[in-house]
Amino acid sequence: METKNTVEQKNEKDNNDVLLSTQTVIHKALEKLGYPEEVYELLKEPLRMLTVKIPVKMDDGSVKIFTGYRAQHNDAVGPTKGGIRFHPNVTEREVKALSIWMSLKCGIVDLPYGGGKGGIVCDPRNMSFSELERLSRGYVRAISQIVGPTKDIPAPDVFTNSQIMAWMMDEYSRMDEFNSPGFITGKPLVLGGSHGRESATAKGVTICINEAAKKRDIDIKGAKVVVQGFGNAGSFLAKFMHDAGAKVVGISDAYGALYDKDGLDIDYLLDRRDSFGTVTKLFENTITNKELLESECDILVPAAIENQITADNAHNIKAKIVVEAANGPTTLEATQILTDRGILIVPDVLASSGGVTVSYFEWVQNNQGYYWTEEEVEEKLEKILVKSFNAIYETAQSRHVDMRLAAYMVGVRKMAEASRFRGWI
Ligand code: NAD
Repeated sequence: METKNTVEQKNEKDNNDVLLSTQTVIHKALEKLGYPEEVYELLKEPLRMLTVKIPVKMDDGSVKIFTGYRAQHNDAVGPTKGGIRFHPNVTEREVKALSIWMSLKCGIVDLPYGGGKGGIVCDPRNMSFSELERLSRGYVRAISQIVGPTKDIPAPDVFTNSQIMAWMMDEYSRMDEFNSPGFITGKPLVLGGSHGRESATAKGVTICINEAAKKRDIDIKGAKVVVQGFGNAGSFLAKFMHDAGAKVVGISDAYGALYDKDGLDIDYLLDRRDSFGTVTKLFENTITNKELLESECDILVPAAIENQITADNAHNIKAKIVVEAANGPTTLEATQILTDRGILIVPDVLASSGGVTVSYFEWVQNNQGYYWTEEEVEEKLEKILVKSFNAIYETAQSRHVDMRLAAYMVGVRKMAEASRFRGWI
């Protein structure tokens, strides 16, 4: 059997290290914008990183100690903001990278926030409802000193949802002795959630797909779309694309993928998926996620996890447009390969910024105690994302850089400027 030598293994590890690759692009973006090296030194890591241990009484009477993180990348612009991920593969480096991406997203859509992110190493698929509640409340108690409606505002991410946000809001409100809906976003509507928040990431991705399709003269009606991941982002997106007349030919979850060149029955699949975005287990004729990514389509949307498009498969991608709903699905090497092949990439920090944008709307509504209709939310979101997409597309064209570097250039500028005006650098 062929084995990879250590240099190859190290290169592969570095290419898949999401923190290292995001630092590489931030460095390039700051260089292109003419900022001195100390700006990079400030922005390459979060300002604050808290690691906590959370003891949780399990249903069988035992006590399990979970590890959690909260990263606050940069708060020069305003309070930090970003989701909380529950996943067995959460690492400190991943949470750091995710917090940097949040800063970039907030810069791109021009929100008065810096980036934050949290994570707990756990597998919620194997935990009961009450164990999850105790873990969620324990995490809030553990990070309470550094979070709050004017300090750092959490939200949902992979394997967390509005119920978990509700428990966390309740726990914080009890400690604060004050009803604090603005502590967290992604809440249920009855607790001060915003219309349109649940589907906001997918709405934002849809807006980016429409703009990208115009640039490549692709008609959405009849366009073949593949979506990897059928969770919050992926399932809403498949539905929006289907309703817009596109042919959703492929979807997947953690266990496999479904492909039908004539289009899948999205409403049926939505009806059968479980709360973790799993549906393929119900079918026999599945293909692998790898095969799905390389299948025939016009538009490919990775909406699951990191490092899915790499130097190993980038040459085999058939799509004309890749729109990254997931955070970090494409490595830097793969970005180069896709760009060289003329494939238009809409990078994660732009494509998935609809979620934080509507989270911001939720926080604004909580602060003013006055709530908007779904139409108002959608109209505001559309305006912001169309403007942001075109600003980045034009930067890529005029500065002769790829879409990812262009997005980083647009995203990093505000926090660099705010840090400078505050006298930090
Ligand atoms: P989710 O937990 O609701 O769904 C994740 C989906 O990915 C599920 O269908 C799951 O089965 C699938 N999946 C998990 N592991 C996989 C694997 N190894 N291979 C293939 N599929 C796998 O999560 P989500 O909220 O939809 O988030 C998906 C991505 O979008 C993440 O990268 C997240 O950071 C990003 N994102 C989400 C939001 C949001 O508001 N939900 C906002 C911005 C970015």
